[in-house]
Amino acid sequence: MRASKNVESQRSKAKKQKIKSDEIHISGAEGIYAGQEISTIAKQYIKRASEHTRGIPDRVVITIEKLQERPEMIKSLPVITLKSVSPLESGRFIRQVLKKIGISDDAIRVAFNLLKSKKTMRGASLLLAESGRRIEPDKERGVRVTRLGISKVAEKTLSGRLAKQGINNARVKEALVLASKVASCKQVMAELCISDNPDYTTGYIASKNLGYIRVPHIKNKGDRRGGRIFFLQKSFGIDEAVTYLEHKPVIINGIAECKGIFSSDEIIHNYNM
Ligand code: AMP
Repeated sequence: MRASKNVESQRSKAKKQKIKSDEIHISGAEGIYAGQEISTIAKQYIKRASEHTRGIPDRVVITIEKLQERPEMIKSLPVITLKSVSPLESGRFIRQVLKKIGISDDAIRVAFNLLKSKKTMRGASLLLAESGRRIEPDKERGVRVTRLGISKVAEKTLSGRLAKQGINNARVKEALVLASKVASCKQVMAELCISDNPDYTTGYIASKNLGYIRVPHIKNKGDRRGGRIFFLQKSFGIDEAVTYLEHKPVIINGIAECKGIFSSDEIIHNYNM
């Protein structure tokens, strides 16, 4: 599902041209479902598109496609939550972790600049971990991860484990499914996400070795900025990575541990990054 809205662009105002409009992203969602679930899911997606805190869309597009290949089955990333009370503390933690994973200072700087930009994208930016060069083919749209899902059994297990931590909600589950697919892409070293929802201030950082680390207070309430960054290992294999992320069907059929809340020091010193 894709929900968007047209706004008069600053560019066209500035040039006093005939008024053009720019499309802004309101919300999106995707999943892999059995045929008989489709009408229920489509209704849920329409409800979600029309109730988003980013605004009322004037266009909602739902695309339904039959899978043409068997999905790859993967395990979810383990889940942990950072103990943090402020955006300053959360930002510091993220920078430390990214450095430890091997992301350069330049790439970290580019990533934060993109996430602080007012212009939100539908998809993610791809950054080379060494140089910080942006390499997504379409810089307005970004790379949109689609064709991802979770089996019924795995979802039940996940709900039970997240409930013990008090975080059993659709937002965490959907983000974990996405982050697990992204981390299973061999070119991706790490992912950083800040929601563009002004009411949701918990972001995350994820990687194969680190798992999925929820980062509370990554931004202040009311802030509409956000986005996703995928840090890539090297410049070759980019097309392959984009094809995997956008097209390869992947289903979570096994659930790793949900470990609770840890301080920045505990995470940085105890994890093999
Ligand atoms: P959200 O966590 O849904 O608030 O999304 C935050 C940002 O992540 C959005 O503004 C998009 O830039 C990006 N994003 C959302 N969904 C996807 C996706 N399926 N694939 C890639 N990027 C996404």
